[in-house]
Amino acid sequence: MNDQQKTKQQLIADLQQTRQQLAEAEHQAKIERVLDEVRYPVAAMGSSEDLLKVAAALYHALEKLEIRFDCVGIQAFDEENGLVQGYTFHLNSAGQPVFIKNENPSQIDATMASLYAHWKRGEVYLRCLTREEYAGRTGINENALRLHCEFLGMDVSGDDDDEMRTRLQKYTHQMYDEGRALWIVDVPFAQGTLAMNRESSTPFSEREVEVLGRLMQVFAPAYSRFLDFHELEEQVERAEQARREADQTRWEADQANKAKSEFLANMSHEIRTPMNAVLGYAQILQRDVTLSADQHASVDAIARSGDHLLGLINDVLDLTMIESGRQALRAVDFDLRSFLDSLAVMFELRCRQQGLDWRMEGAIGRRQVRGDEGKLRQVLINLLGNAVKFTEAGWVGLRLQELGDDRYRFEVSDSGPGIAAEYQQSIFHPLQQGPAGLEKGGAGLGLAIAARFVEMMGGRIGLESALGQGARVTLEVVLPPGESPVAKRDERAFARVRHLAPRQQVRALVVDDVAENRQVLQRILAAIGVEVTLAEGGAQGLAAVRELKPDIVFMDIRMPYMSGTQALRQIDAEHRQGACKVVAVSASAFVHQRQDYLAVGFADYIEKPFRTERIYACLAELLGVQYEYAEGAADAAVVHDDFDGLRLPAALRAQLYQAAEKHSVTDLKHGLDQLRALGAEEAQLAVHLGELLQRFDMPAAQAILARAVDG
Ligand code: ADP
Repeated sequence: MNDQQKTKQQLIADLQQTRQQLAEAEHQAKIERVLDEVRYPVAAMGSSEDLLKVAAALYHALEKLEIRFDCVGIQAFDEENGLVQGYTFHLNSAGQPVFIKNENPSQIDATMASLYAHWKRGEVYLRCLTREEYAGRTGINENALRLHCEFLGMDVSGDDDDEMRTRLQKYTHQMYDEGRALWIVDVPFAQGTLAMNRESSTPFSEREVEVLGRLMQVFAPAYSRFLDFHELEEQVERAEQARREADQTRWEADQANKAKSEFLANMSHEIRTPMNAVLGYAQILQRDVTLSADQHASVDAIARSGDHLLGLINDVLDLTMIESGRQALRAVDFDLRSFLDSLAVMFELRCRQQGLDWRMEGAIGRRQVRGDEGKLRQVLINLLGNAVKFTEAGWVGLRLQELGDDRYRFEVSDSGPGIAAEYQQSIFHPLQQGPAGLEKGGAGLGLAIAARFVEMMGGRIGLESALGQGARVTLEVVLPPGESPVAKRDERAFARVRHLAPRQQVRALVVDDVAENRQVLQRILAAIGVEVTLAEGGAQGLAAVRELKPDIVFMDIRMPYMSGTQALRQIDAEHRQGACKVVAVSASAFVHQRQDYLAVGFADYIEKPFRTERIYACLAELLGVQYEYAEGAADAAVVHDDFDGLRLPAALRAQLYQAAEKHSVTDLKHGLDQLRALGAEEAQLAVHLGELLQRFDMPAAQAILARAVDG
């Protein structure tokens, strides 16, 4: 071979080599492109579900890389639990690969041992099943057998088990006779292997195995991300489940709470109804001038105890309503000055009865403000009530300060026992009492209700106190100027009503299904000369309205067959609107409901238990009724316990004082008899001391006696 020939051959060889290199480079570039098509969905994974997209890309990649196989799947090793989780690829009816998680993971057991060992060493597991091994597959269960046969393209629809086995055996032998075998390859990746098999005369080539290895490196992060997402999703699901359970528990608690509120509302309605008779008759008797002083004192005690009981019921109910979120704010316009005056009248008297000084600060002119008057009053009555209850000597004060921007600060203070720092938080919780409370009694609800009402009003409640140094509770609320300059009626004046003025006539109809309620209202109205007709229910009420054309109807709300509201609609439909005034009467637990009743068309709303002055005020307001008033009687309560400077025989005063000091009821009673014999004013003092005796309020009795003088 000459040099020229040599060079030519060399060139051809070089060219071939270059061509091969080029083909190899193209081949590698193609593999990289295909791998990229798997990398993208791996990078884009956003949930465990996205593993399916990666798996589909993997399947397509195998096709594009022209790696032929009959079956492919993934086995993932869960070493922690000693399990192998299997996933297989199938083509769905649209020819798309689907990736299916096998239902039951298998154990990493003896049959898995050699594969597992290979995987742990990071080696490819490649082998060929022997004829016996393959034929042995016919021993598998019927379902798997049928699937396998179908996979091989056999029509086994009419075959039973044995026939299928025979056909599969025949197929196996034929395959091996023709020089083909079942080749198995398991290519490891971080968490498992890609498992593939094919029936072929040649094994998986080194190149194929090498490409599969690269492919699985791309796939590996997808599987670890899948596991991470899966864990995260399980956590989210657990949290969701916990939230659902919490929701369910809350819902159940709400239901229970609702049931409790309804029960309490009903109970309180039930209790108020008989209380209406108790308090109503007590009030009727209080007006009875034929009763003796002793009888009056007993009736007063009934009225007072009834009031106390009612206060308790209202407290329990308020708290239940607050807790069930059913207590709403009801803003009305009210005169701040009369508001304070009414509190002052109430507490000045109580202070005096207990021998305490009353201090009122913060003069304010008449001023309409807008706010929840009812709740504010309740809060202040609670605070002042506590101050009076716990203070044995000294003073109780109410002070109002204007802070500007419609903010007002109410301050209730006393010179009582004070509250130790350790109790200052807890006493604002329901049923919590300090030592003073345990000693003096009470339900421990007052401050809890006060705090929540103030909170509802968007205000702040504060407490400053130290043991032995009195207490000061402050509350700050915003009360914007009122919108309507309505004059607030002062019902106290109506306590002195004795009779309708001459030539005044009123015809009233009382509709109530409860006999006691009808009778109490009848007595209260008849006592001042109102002509009263009674009806036992809505239907009778309607008939009476048609027949008698009353000036005013007192309509109970809760009645069987026809409610008061339904009856009102009927009256409005039958008669000229406003022809007669219809007043809603209810023992309903839901206080502050006046606005609701006015909104449905009632002329006014009266709460049970009845207050005589409230009923008389209502007649005056709706019908313009005029009254005769008892001389000075309204002030009797105020006058009749002001015994400062009253002259008493020194011996008697000392005897009474000592009896009070020793809590000797017998001695006191004895002294009172002597007192009564002395004259009118002394008799009044006897009545008053008798009342205090009834309450065992000896300190107040002593205080009064201390202010009388020897004469
Ligand atoms: P109650 O008065 O029915 O016990 P409250 O909720 O009104 O319930 O008060 C809770 C507790 O706070 C009382 O039991 C008492 O120990 C304490 N307390 C409230 N006001 C005063 C006060 N002015 N002086 C001393 N202690 C008070």
